[in-house]
Amino acid sequence: MDSEAHQGETRQFEAEVSKLLDLVINSLYTNKEIFLRELVSNASDACDKLRHAALTQPELTAGDSEFRIEIVPDQAAGTLSIIDNGIGMNREDLVSNLGTIARSGTAAFVEQMNADKDKSGDMALIGRFGVGFYSAFMVAEQVTVSTRRAGEAEAWEWQSDGRGSFTIAQGERAGRGTTVTLKMREDAKEFLEPFRLRSIIRKYSDHIAVPIKIKEGDKLETVNQASALWMRPKSEITSEQYTEFYHHVAHAFDDPWLTIHNRAEGTIEYTNLLFVPSTKPFDLFDPERKHQVKLYVRRVFVTDNCPDLMPTWLRFVRGVVDSEDLPLNVSRETLQHNPILARIRQAVVKRVLGEIEKKAEKAPEEYATFWENFGAVLKEGLYEGGENRDALLKLARFHSTTDEGGLVSLTDYVGRMKEGQSEIYYIAGDSIAALRRSPQIEGFVKRGLEVLLMTDPVDEFWLQTVHEFEDKAFRSVTRGGVDLGKFKAEEKEGEDEKSAEEAPAAADIDTLVAAFKATLGDTVQDVRVSQRLTESPVCLVADDSGMDLHIERILKQHNQIGDLSKRVLEINPDNGLIRALAGRAAENAADPLFETAAQLLLDQARILEGEPLPDPGAFSRRMTELMAKGIAAAA
Ligand code: ADP
Ligand code: MG
Repeated sequence: MDSEAHQGETRQFEAEVSKLLDLVINSLYTNKEIFLRELVSNASDACDKLRHAALTQPELTAGDSEFRIEIVPDQAAGTLSIIDNGIGMNREDLVSNLGTIARSGTAAFVEQMNADKDKSGDMALIGRFGVGFYSAFMVAEQVTVSTRRAGEAEAWEWQSDGRGSFTIAQGERAGRGTTVTLKMREDAKEFLEPFRLRSIIRKYSDHIAVPIKIKEGDKLETVNQASALWMRPKSEITSEQYTEFYHHVAHAFDDPWLTIHNRAEGTIEYTNLLFVPSTKPFDLFDPERKHQVKLYVRRVFVTDNCPDLMPTWLRFVRGVVDSEDLPLNVSRETLQHNPILARIRQAVVKRVLGEIEKKAEKAPEEYATFWENFGAVLKEGLYEGGENRDALLKLARFHSTTDEGGLVSLTDYVGRMKEGQSEIYYIAGDSIAALRRSPQIEGFVKRGLEVLLMTDPVDEFWLQTVHEFEDKAFRSVTRGGVDLGKFKAEEKEGEDEKSAEEAPAAADIDTLVAAFKATLGDTVQDVRVSQRLTESPVCLVADDSGMDLHIERILKQHNQIGDLSKRVLEINPDNGLIRALAGRAAENAADPLFETAAQLLLDQARILEGEPLPDPGAFSRRMTELMAKGIAAAA
């Protein structure tokens, strides 16, 4: 190799990497030992990748099929090397993997860092997110990566002091794999002590399925159990080991909220070790909506991209499923519509939902946090339908008009339905606060009828396909056809009884309704006396057979439907303004004021719904006119 090639090329790190490295290098972070966890985790991933590639290209591991990771401290040179015989990297791999932020978790960290101008929390964040490969610079003043990709002849050497740039040159390496050599900083020499290394490996990396050997003198000693963690008996696994495995498999840094470890024996055999995170992963609503469970076959990693293994609405679940029955050389094609896989999925989904339900019963407060994190994702399963719908309906939680801030299950709801109530009332909209102010729920609240408040965009969709829970139909309160007359209003202490003489005569109200209808013509479906209003003068509702107002607006926004359908205008005979108008109707059924009043009230109801006014100019003219009259009368 000539010296020019060896000098190689100098490249700048992506700007984000430089920022991150600044932080890492200048960190006073006390938990520096995690660098080893990160590098060992990468070495193990590299072995998994090659093991998988070798299923179809056995020549890749020919002559060296025993995967291993070696840790070699050299006290004299002040270096620590982490060596693997995994898949290795070629030139392009090096540039894109170690020069940019490829890893999404690290990207999320950088984002947080940028958002958080007050840097005091940063060091804790490193611990929470981990920064992968770059954590090496917490302990090393120089990092050299010497690597050769399996199946390729050329080796490459990447080197950096973590200050803005790195070099890549051709290198030399006897076989495939990667050696990461750290020139340790003065204050990190403790990590050259074999006993210290051994304890770090046992603490963080015991679950790694590849043997990890530490070199001491001439001896190489395996320090981890080197067997797949999920194959060990539950009783022999500590919660720390579960957590470390979760960090490794999920590339996450929170604690698992739920750990689900089972072996299924019988006609199909598999083991699952799955985790529900305690915090919301940042990519939960990525458009791809991919699930995050890895498929193994008899301890061999097969793929982390097998859509049929788990439904997308469980995409917050992380971990592994290891099958005893699938053939090792499964390909993407044979995994599609594979009956064994279908049965595994069915059983695993049931198990996960069952464990979540148990937790809901045992720890309702923790469950509420889980639901805030992942409820919207689970509801996608309701929309999808299928055999898990009932289980999902039991898991669902909602805000409601009587929830006092907590969450309500459908079982709670049904359990406290009023006598004569046969439907589950709900209202959908953009925010809980706005829904609580909706005129349409007034009459329900007054009668002590609970209304569920739905604000997840997905709610509108599953409510179109799920029609009932325990034989009780879901009913939007923004649709007509609810007979509130049969429910008695709940009397509140100190509330005035409305005297009979105050109430307008039914005939006068009928006259007013007729006058409104005549004025509004076919801009509305109908004008009706409302049972659902107790305070507001008017509101809009959909026709009895119509669509819920909110979903109709969503569909319209997405151009799924043409015009909004005509609404029913309901008027409240108990409202002062409506009473006054009814009084005038008694005197003069053709009072010209009715036209202005009807139009203004209709527009007002539209504004409350967040619907556009068809003629804002006319609205403003009428308003001005009426205000002028009011002021003149007051003067
Ligand atoms: P992550 O492991 O989450 O992807 P890292 O920052 O730890 O992020 O590593 C970045 C990338 O560098 C890895 O995704 C991998 O492609 C590559 N890499 C790191 N270490 C090795 C290694 N020992 N062998 C092969 N590739 C590696
Ligand atoms: Mg990594």
